[in-house]
Amino acid sequence: MARQEKPSPEVIGEMYDRLTDSRADAFGGNLHVGYWTDDHDESPVAQATDHLTDLVAERLEVVPGERVLDVGSGTGRPAVRIAVARDVHVTGVTLSENQVRLAEGRPETGQGPGHADFQLADAMWLPFDDASFDAAYAIESLVHMENPAAALGEIARVLRPGGRFVVGEWYLLGPLTGDDAADLEDLSRDFHVHFLPTVDEFYEEMNRAGLKIEIFHDIWANISRSFQLVEEILPASAMRLGGEIAEQLTVCGEIYRRFEEIPQISYALFTAVRH
Ligand code: SAH
Repeated sequence: MARQEKPSPEVIGEMYDRLTDSRADAFGGNLHVGYWTDDHDESPVAQATDHLTDLVAERLEVVPGERVLDVGSGTGRPAVRIAVARDVHVTGVTLSENQVRLAEGRPETGQGPGHADFQLADAMWLPFDDASFDAAYAIESLVHMENPAAALGEIARVLRPGGRFVVGEWYLLGPLTGDDAADLEDLSRDFHVHFLPTVDEFYEEMNRAGLKIEIFHDIWANISRSFQLVEEILPASAMRLGGEIAEQLTVCGEIYRRFEEIPQISYALFTAVRH
């Protein structure tokens, strides 16, 4: 598909520039939910968030030496972890300069055969050649995309045929009504949540881009402990940091709480193949 003319607004990058240090710190460097195997799994949050990364890595089905794209790479912890564990070359893109700096400063980057590098780039305008990646993944970044069709089109373009695209993301069990719909509008405004599709809508969008979802795995039961942790961790970080960051963190905490309360919101791992 043709590239989009205009990069997406820098506002998302700015939001992440501000939020990154404190929030990533609270989640062990990851800006995504944790995964707990069952009620007996006592993993601390940093380990649980890494566990989610490992589930994404497994689903990529890469072999050593392959090239992998991380769409919305945060502070680079998932990319470095996957690069090292799978001996692959991961390239991460993010809209936040602060995140690129933090990711490039990770001591684990570049040791051993696996390697990760990072750049400031918009998923809706990827600076890569066609079919230049063997696999790609996006953890909690598509939700922010104003034009998901453009982003998915770009991801499909840079993936080679047969390459996998794995997504860890919020989605809707069914359409929202009444107060829940109004809540979602607030969410969209406060936290730039633009893309929260139902499963059917997600399959359709992916298909249109040339990405066929082969495995859909709802993991709500495994990730929902994250909410409790967010409620504990974020206010403490907000108190410690104060100022504008504290306000942002408080908003962030409220958003998680609303995600927990809206019954139609769930979370899944989607595994698609580029056809
Ligand atoms: N995947 C990371 C970070 C998740 S936070 C992790 O799991 O830790 C969301 C990320 O998506 C941020 O890095 C943000 O900069 C990025 N993002 C949002 N919209 C984007 C876009 N249009 N292009 C590239 N990155 C984007």
